[in-house]
Amino acid sequence: MSAPIVIIGAGQSGLQVAEALRAEGWEGDVIMLGEEPVAPYHRPPLSKAYLLGESSAEQLTMRTPEVLARKNITLRTGIRVERIDPAAKTLHFSHGSSLPYHRLAIATGARVRPLPGADLQGVFGLRTLDDCTRISEALNTAQDVVVIGGGFIGLEFAAVARKKEKTVTVLEAADRLMARAVSPIISALYVTLHTQHGVALKLGVKVTGFTSANGRVSGVTLADGGTVKADLVVVGIGVLPNQELAAAAGLACEGGIIVDACGRTSDPFIFASGDCAAMRLDDGSLRRLESVQNAVEQGKAAAAAIMGKEKPFIAAPWFWSDQYDVKLQMVGTSAGHDQAIVRGDQAGYKCSIFYYRQGVMIGMDSLNRPQDHMAGRKLLDQHLSPTPQQAADEGFALNSLLQQQAV
Ligand SMILES: Cc1cc2nc3c(=O)[nH]c(=O)nc-3n(C[C@H](O)[C@H](O)[C@H](O)COP(=O)(O)OP(=O)(O)OC[C@H]3O[C@@H](n4cnc5c(N)ncnc54)[C@H](O)[C@@H]3O)c2cc1C
Repeated sequence: MSAPIVIIGAGQSGLQVAEALRAEGWEGDVIMLGEEPVAPYHRPPLSKAYLLGESSAEQLTMRTPEVLARKNITLRTGIRVERIDPAAKTLHFSHGSSLPYHRLAIATGARVRPLPGADLQGVFGLRTLDDCTRISEALNTAQDVVVIGGGFIGLEFAAVARKKEKTVTVLEAADRLMARAVSPIISALYVTLHTQHGVALKLGVKVTGFTSANGRVSGVTLADGGTVKADLVVVGIGVLPNQELAAAAGLACEGGIIVDACGRTSDPFIFASGDCAAMRLDDGSLRRLESVQNAVEQGKAAAAAIMGKEKPFIAAPWFWSDQYDVKLQMVGTSAGHDQAIVRGDQAGYKCSIFYYRQGVMIGMDSLNRPQDHMAGRKLLDQHLSPTPQQAADEGFALNSLLQQQAV
């Protein structure tokens, strides 16, 4: 077997596939190809500690090329795959060269959803280290910051900008914050949190464009005729999966590269994982997640499947977000809940909300309560559910349900 296993994308998930292949016993060549000029790095700090200057570039790096080389993983950065030829099992690059593969893993991630007119100076998306560096420089001199989109990344950035004492306005089209991912209870708590920190929140507003002066952004225009003054704008209106390579190669795609729980695509020699992949669930629906857990677990599942092993990613999804001094940790889902139980102190941002559907816990959101979150993960993975009374009772140890089962 001479051809290598090739991974397109040297991000969180691509790295996981590479390392998991070694753990699963693959002894042949592994080549990871990344368009960005740097070794795999952690993206979450780009809108948190790193942007605040509280962590270093070294801390961002997940593995240096030297560490990868010791694992016999070849990393090629600054290289973009232009085309996959699945019949010839070959990749093609823009400069005309090509690379054969034995098996292929696609971990191309996602890109910031573009907003028309957002190519003005002073308007940024936040996805890459390069974006973060440019935003960080612009923040040094900016005063009036506008964030378009009240999702996780936009709000985390808003919190950083407030800590840097900028005037911050958040513009959100929906009538609540983080509406795609959290319950109305959490949205409302975050309206209070950001308002307490001095952010001007405008919900239910439609952005129509930008005003500029000397080629630089000077404001954001709204459908109601208003303009919000701005010398720095961050657009955080979601991402688009990088699925075009796969689609052009004939792989089934629908809002992401369609995979099963083991990362298998519609081509038996090609696998996909992370932000670019949409997983078919048991009920037939597709779920594309944008999270570290998903990138890691799907990457592991795909590596196992490449090795002919069945290790599906079935754990309950979890995610976190840091805004000011509040760590929000989510597990499972709040979508479709018919009962919400609060444990702890909502006003002090130290509480957990348990979500139930027909008496069974389907998810939990925790604010500054990491132990609840960890217990929630275990409970959901083991299909255990505290009663609503137990959930509300601070004296009830959630882990005791796990212990009872272990006995
Ligand atoms: C600012 C920010 C904050 C976040 N915060 C959190 C958080 O708090 N918690 C959490 O769970 N998740 C968070 N996330 C999400 C998390 O980082 C992503 O879900 C994760 O990085 C996805 O990993 P991935 O490998 O699928 O994609 P990526 O990490 O995006 O990696 C994909 C790589 O593929 C490369 N690529 C694409 N096309 C090609 C090509 N044709 N040829 C070669 N290379 C290519 C890209 O350049 C990129 O480097 C955050 C993301 C961002 C941007």
